[in-house]
Amino acid sequence: MNERPLLRVEDVHKWYGNVQILRGVSLDVTLGEVLCIIGPSGSGKSTLLRCINHLETLDAGRIYLEDELIGYRDERGKVVERAAKDLARQRASMGMVFQQFNLFLHKTVIENLIEAPMLVLKESRASATQRAHELLGQVGLAEKGHQYPRQLSGGQQQRVAIARALAMRPKLMLFDEPTSALDPEIVGDVLTVMRDLAKAGMTMIVVTHEMEFAREVADRLIFMDEGAIVEQGDPAGILSQPTEARTRQFLARL
Ligand code: ADP
Repeated sequence: MNERPLLRVEDVHKWYGNVQILRGVSLDVTLGEVLCIIGPSGSGKSTLLRCINHLETLDAGRIYLEDELIGYRDERGKVVERAAKDLARQRASMGMVFQQFNLFLHKTVIENLIEAPMLVLKESRASATQRAHELLGQVGLAEKGHQYPRQLSGGQQQRVAIARALAMRPKLMLFDEPTSALDPEIVGDVLTVMRDLAKAGMTMIVVTHEMEFAREVADRLIFMDEGAIVEQGDPAGILSQPTEARTRQFLARL
């Protein structure tokens, strides 16, 4: 039986000026799948995530979420970028969590969580607030709703950022090195929230350096280098017995 992928990335190419950053990346992600992406700094992992939710335009290739072309409209075989409102709708269906939490610093935690659901999803303040409280409970921050981001630790801010992404009821969550900016002792709290999310069936793509997390949580591990997928498969297999020399070299340096 061939399950239709939730996300389909087809031969994506990306250039910055005359430097090629993505060299034909293709991948499918099925509903509920957790994909971890590892690779050296500068290999294009972050750019790939940013292409998936169209924070970057594509130079070639196509990306589909539930069979809908992301970022573009196909006009008789020619792709034309979608209008801003359409792009906002598509972006809202994918939650993105960055290394730097990107919270609104002048808004309380609850205000951070209700803004987009009210503006984009047209939820009422009452229902958005109720859902915000539920989500804060889910990430272990039930008591923090009325604080400002600066009053929270980095790990707490990142959990707020995850809750804020979830408030939009995304079909897919994209994580770009969510724990890289955190002190080692609080990384675990954030990974626990992500592990719970995976267990609850959320489809996730996680760019990470946390190999234990990848081994334990990912259904599939991808190793990228120089803008291309070099190797992919079962995380435990790749981490203990990589097939490609470049993967071996990368893992040996960790
Ligand atoms: P990774 O996430 O694997 O560390 P990135 O996707 O962030 O890699 O970056 C890939 C390459 O693209 C790097 O060489 C980086 O310097 C370059 N790059 C990233 N963003 C831009 C940009 N906006 N303009 C020019 N070059 C960029």
